[in-house]
Amino acid sequence: MSHEPQYAVRAYHSRHSEPDTRVARPRSIAETLDSEEICREILEKARWPGGPVCMNCGAHGAASRLTTRPGLWTCKACRRCQYSVTSGTQLHRSRLPVSAWVKLFYATEIRKQNLTASQVSRRFNVAYLTAKSMLQRVEALKRDMPEMAQRLEDQLRALAGPAGQS
Ligand SMILES: [Zn+2]
Repeated sequence: MSHEPQYAVRAYHSRHSEPDTRVARPRSIAETLDSEEICREILEKARWPGGPVCMNCGAHGAASRLTTRPGLWTCKACRRCQYSVTSGTQLHRSRLPVSAWVKLFYATEIRKQNLTASQVSRRFNVAYLTAKSMLQRVEALKRDMPEMAQRLEDQLRALAGPAGQS
């Protein structure tokens, strides 16, 4: 676990949950958002509520997990493409882990934090321009894929419980 991305992990833990109570199963929204695996599942559910859809041929139910790369899918129907939950979205082609996007979305859309690029830069430990691009991409995702954004918001609100109601 020492290779976990640092990003907002520490900030969230110090402010939103008690320290030294980590357990295997996430107990809080902060721990949930720390998990790349869970965040990927959340984003996949938001994008494909009925399961992955092939980027190339549009096949439903033909997706197969690539075991060598987490988050990568192949298509058994056309056998011609590999794709991930961010492929073809505004979040594609970034080196950021999926959890960073979900965390940022949670901060801006659920917690309604009006973050500046400087704040995002510090919180996620990325360059200023990257931070600026992250904020723009979240806005673009909401604009271009409103249903996905809504499903993401609904899931995060449910996970956050009372903390997400304010
Ligand atoms: Zn296909």
